[in-house]
Amino acid sequence: MGGAAVAGGRGVDAVTAAPLELLADCMLGRLAKWLRLLGYDTAYENDASDPHLARRARAEGRVLLTRDHELAGRRGLRTLLIESETLEEQVQEVQDALGPPPDPALSRCSVCNGVLETVTPAEIADHAPLYVLRTQTEFRRCSNCGKVYWPGTHIQAMRAHLEEMRKRIEEPSG
Ligand SMILES: [Zn+2]
Repeated sequence: MGGAAVAGGRGVDAVTAAPLELLADCMLGRLAKWLRLLGYDTAYENDASDPHLARRARAEGRVLLTRDHELAGRRGLRTLLIESETLEEQVQEVQDALGPPPDPALSRCSVCNGVLETVTPAEIADHAPLYVLRTQTEFRRCSNCGKVYWPGTHIQAMRAHLEEMRKRIEEPSG
């Protein structure tokens, strides 16, 4: 086998070895949904006060994503100020600051951030239309809220969008 393991850090954030987990503030619901689909563990609350968000981020060791300068400047918190208005650029900001998604795409529920598990058609027979059960073989189910995903047009559209984003992410910008 060629080459030894790379020694030393490669720009890895040395703040913590804990898994990268995010918390999006109430302005960033759409971003949170897409970050989940991309493979970032992203908690989101659409109706939480700043002190609550700060407490939760601190307690759970999450990086707080916020559009609020004041909140982003809080001491004792890992925060990332999201400045762009557009979704793609917001995703890019997260990627630039925090690195690539720790999990594969489509491994988290876009609705609740639960982990998606692969299930057989029989397991979700009550939760998908018959024609879907007949025509699809690959199903995933959220281990938290039970939402069922299958590669119909919905997921194909998401995949295409994710591919676009991944390309942008992987191309060095500037
Ligand atoms: Zn879910």
